[in-house]
Amino acid sequence: MPKYVYKCIDCSQHFEVIHGILEDHTTCGFCPSTKLMRVPQMPHLARQETQKGGKVGDEVKRAIEENRAILKEERRKRVELPDGD
Ligand SMILES: [Zn+2]
Repeated sequence: MPKYVYKCIDCSQHFEVIHGILEDHTTCGFCPSTKLMRVPQMPHLARQETQKGGKVGDEVKRAIEENRAILKEERRKRVELPDGD
């Protein structure tokens, strides 16, 4: 099963959880919080996060969403191209 890194929003602890792709971990192992954020497994981002002390997760999420929007837009353009006459 894949290994995920979570960050607790309440106590700021990072911890690894092993669970299935379709499952989701929702409880902090260090405090009773259920406000967890999955941390993307990218080494250079993980290093940034230790330096700045957080917030990188949100930026990554935004970047992924922007990327997805661009892809969607490009696909849409391609579909709307006139297929000749
Ligand atoms: Zn916690």
